[in-house]
Amino acid sequence: SINEPSNFLRQIIDHDLASGAYQNRTNKDGQAIPSIITRFPPEPNGYLHIGHAKSICLNFGLAADYKALPGGARCNMRLDDTNPVKEDVEYAESILDAVKWLGFNWDVDGEAHLYHASDYFDQLYEFAELLIQQGKAYVDSQSADDIHANRGNFGQAGKNSPNRDRTPAENLTLFREMRAGQYPDGKHVLRLKIDMAHPNMVMRDPVIYRIRHTDHHRTGSKWCIYPLYDFTHCISDALENVSHSICTLEFENNRPLYDWIVNALAELGVFKNPVPHQYEFARLNLTYTLTSKRKLLQLVEEKCVDGWDDPRMPTIVGIRRRGYTPESIRLFCERIGVSKADSWIDMSTLDQALRDDLEAKAPRATAVLQPLKLVIENFEASASEPCSAPRHPQHPEWGNREFHFTRDLWIEADDFMQEPAKGFFRLYPPIGDQLGGRVRLRHGFVIECTGFEKDASGKVTQVNAMYFPDSKSGTPGSNNYKVKGNIHWISATEAVPAEVRLFDHLFNDPHPDSGDKNFLDAINPQSKQTITAYLEPCMKQVPAEARFQFERHGYFIADQTDSKPGKPVFNRTVGLKDSWK
Ligand code: ATP
Ligand code: MG
Ligand code: MG
Repeated sequence: SINEPSNFLRQIIDHDLASGAYQNRTNKDGQAIPSIITRFPPEPNGYLHIGHAKSICLNFGLAADYKALPGGARCNMRLDDTNPVKEDVEYAESILDAVKWLGFNWDVDGEAHLYHASDYFDQLYEFAELLIQQGKAYVDSQSADDIHANRGNFGQAGKNSPNRDRTPAENLTLFREMRAGQYPDGKHVLRLKIDMAHPNMVMRDPVIYRIRHTDHHRTGSKWCIYPLYDFTHCISDALENVSHSICTLEFENNRPLYDWIVNALAELGVFKNPVPHQYEFARLNLTYTLTSKRKLLQLVEEKCVDGWDDPRMPTIVGIRRRGYTPESIRLFCERIGVSKADSWIDMSTLDQALRDDLEAKAPRATAVLQPLKLVIENFEASASEPCSAPRHPQHPEWGNREFHFTRDLWIEADDFMQEPAKGFFRLYPPIGDQLGGRVRLRHGFVIECTGFEKDASGKVTQVNAMYFPDSKSGTPGSNNYKVKGNIHWISATEAVPAEVRLFDHLFNDPHPDSGDKNFLDAINPQSKQTITAYLEPCMKQVPAEARFQFERHGYFIADQTDSKPGKPVFNRTVGLKDSWK
């Protein structure tokens, strides 16, 4: 909460609010605006991933925390869509869906604070002309290679471009001709005139516009010159009156440039004070996965996964399809916190957040994942006994699930051992004068193993048992039986067969792309296993995206696309315990 600043960004905001500089802010038109404005500015060049979720929770979370304070707060949703080559509406739509699914909203009091950097193309162009007129920008006609070579290196000054001393009038003419489409791609660029000997390479006359004869998904063919990130980003922030512009640490070196541009324009009276400031935090690195849109695109294109929403993908669409809840992702982001030091977060932290969210929320159900036939020898083949179990042990008001005890049942193969290991208290056959294993069939009867059958290869094909008719769960007689084992089961007569997908890490390596590793070499070939399981009868009609705790197994979700009422398909989200080796 706001009263206990839990991260360095809250401390900065608290300090700024206390200074009074952010009180009674108004926009250019004199309308009141919130004291604190953050923004989430993805580029629509791919699907959002779990790393973006950290930024979303941070930016929208700060806005929510400070909303109630005098002056208020909000978070703008901005699509940073200035590179027409890699961007697409499909990506833009999925980004907006992902933010909403995570539980955040850019509508404030009926006004949608959804922006596109491409909406600022006119203003960005106008500001570029202003800087040219001030002698602060020039058109450079060196080749891209020469520009690169002449930048110099760390500790070694760059070389001024031969075009650096063009007059503002010359530059203006050339820049207007660039805009008018008179030159091919790469013929000229617009650069800021800062310092070719600056110790920070970012400040060595950065390129801010380039020629790209490519249509843009929103502005069509209107432009053939496009602004670069460093120029666009800070100006977009300033135009939106962002107060705190929060980004990841790799932009730390770009901060002086951010300030240079914003201040140069503020001096010309273009922006009001206080101008936005950039603050950096550590990006999320999660073990056994990747958080780079470019590399995720490669996984999709090279068919290492079945698309962006493959449940093994760390994309928001993948995580959603896998069964993680928005609440669990927000809880995860809260738990990992925000700091200024890069670190790795273990995937198990995300899994634990899901368990902690679903433990109280997910209805219970029975699924047998590795079916083995169990035959109750002293039960009539045609008979059946109604049984029931609570949908959730802590929610009696949710009612019961109903099912039947019959002669033929399915149990898990590993609830039986031909030769019981020490401490194995489930089913095993009688050996010598030792009785067979006794267990309670949960919500049913106590049984005792009487024998088993196996095929020519030695594989156990059937377990036999007798049941104790007076041991039914919930009846007084059940107290007479003390057993150590408690196993789940499903009547073979009413079991619902279902495809179930079990997932493991997509990579065998906790850091698949660190150093000079090729992440494609670390793909886990066993990351997806598809089985046919048996589910209890009430699972037949579940709607897509229904989540359950399959008792003794973990949390599962009916697949968003493939599961249909009448023909359920489940994904295992996580097991009940952290079982990753
Ligand atoms: P990628 O490298 O995956 O393409 P990006 O930083 O280029 O990521 P953007 O679309 O520019 O992607 O990201 C939007 C916002 O999300 C930025 O403010 C960025 O700092 C933040 N972000 C991206 N990846 C992470 C991450 N792993 N952890 C935290 N924040 C992130
Ligand atoms: Mg980016
Ligand atoms: Mg990137």
